[in-house]
Amino acid sequence: MPIWNPRIETMPRVDLEQLQLERLQVTANRAWEGVPFYRRRFEEQGLMPEHIRSLPDLRLLPFTTKEDLRQGYPYDMFAVPLREVVRIHGSPDGAGTPTVAGYTKNDLRHWRELAARVLSAGGMTKDDVIQISFTYGLLTDAFGLHQGAEEIGASVIPVAAGAVEQQISIMQDFRTTALVGTPTYALRIAAALTERGVARTSLHLRWGMLGGEPWSEGLRQRIESQLGISATDNYRVSEVMGPGVSGECNEHKAGLHINEDHFLCEIVDPESGEALPPGQTGELVITTLTKEALPVIRYRTRDFTSLNLEPCACGRTLARMARVFRRTDDIIIAGGVKLSPAQVEAVLLTAEGVGPHYQVFVDRVGATDRLEVQVEVSSSLLTGDMRHLVQTQNQLRQKLEEALGLAVEVRLVEPRTLSGAEPRMPRIVDRR
Ligand SMILES: [Zn+2]
Repeated sequence: MPIWNPRIETMPRVDLEQLQLERLQVTANRAWEGVPFYRRRFEEQGLMPEHIRSLPDLRLLPFTTKEDLRQGYPYDMFAVPLREVVRIHGSPDGAGTPTVAGYTKNDLRHWRELAARVLSAGGMTKDDVIQISFTYGLLTDAFGLHQGAEEIGASVIPVAAGAVEQQISIMQDFRTTALVGTPTYALRIAAALTERGVARTSLHLRWGMLGGEPWSEGLRQRIESQLGISATDNYRVSEVMGPGVSGECNEHKAGLHINEDHFLCEIVDPESGEALPPGQTGELVITTLTKEALPVIRYRTRDFTSLNLEPCACGRTLARMARVFRRTDDIIIAGGVKLSPAQVEAVLLTAEGVGPHYQVFVDRVGATDRLEVQVEVSSSLLTGDMRHLVQTQNQLRQKLEEALGLAVEVRLVEPRTLSGAEPRMPRIVDRR
């Protein structure tokens, strides 16, 4: 599989770290000069940009949180005047003030290159016909991968999210080879193909470049077998930069290669903020190394992962991060127990004909938290032997109670009761 930018992606670590240090110093200067928020933060610590003399000196600097970005809404965190900003994206997340990310011309040029690297690692070449089924809007996914695919020279079809029927006709007529979208949406397309009796062999689909929401290894296997594709994961931090931060190589799928020449990554203990060594799981913290419009220093992503600095068998020397399927945001506390959607999904996908669409509802009755897991099951399971259905339900309840350590109700529901029209569905609905 070709490497998009071999000079950078296979660079010896010692050279990479030198490049990172030079760029970190530029970024510290840019933030100090251009963003009053950062100048204040530096001064509070008695720091000047020139105090950053080595990569570990990064730890002298304070963290930036999503709340800080919100406080700077809309333009206070920009390090350049608005006339130099050529693109503005936002991260509307339902609650509270959204965050805003600006891009200069250079930022867009870098983003395109990074998205091209991630797409190439995922297997795509200029011979591919790429169907983008992300929503084009304030969120970054569609635009980021769209421009990366054009950079590669592939044929890009901007279908956007919408009617599944249209996705399928276009997939057939335009001979789409690569699907770009959320894992949930890929599954909806797979289900619709089965319903309509469309043979997999009538399609040309080979690759799936999926992301935009956490998804487990079990879900990957289902998507790959149902669509007959090889699916890779990629990662972005909307508040910082859209897709292009990191992505899996298609040959090994053993962690997401981070574009470390543009992003300096640390893993910290989410409670204490202490740095954790490679291999240990904690919260990912990102410092941008080239962003002009919105440089961020030690941004707390709230995503859990770990780093692996070993070179990959694909030839890339860039560090790999473990797949993210847990966010500090996703974790809720019910009945005194911490739980994340990933734990629920891992159990559900062990049963035949169950999932992958599910939602966890949390209610409070009196002083007690009640947990109900609703999960879609295949029509054949619902219309089959009643005893088998009850058995499946009981087994799932037992397994979930063992895994989570609290009482759970399980409700098996018909296909498409939950997935509805939403390309992204909240996994946990807290009704307390
Ligand atoms: Zn690799």
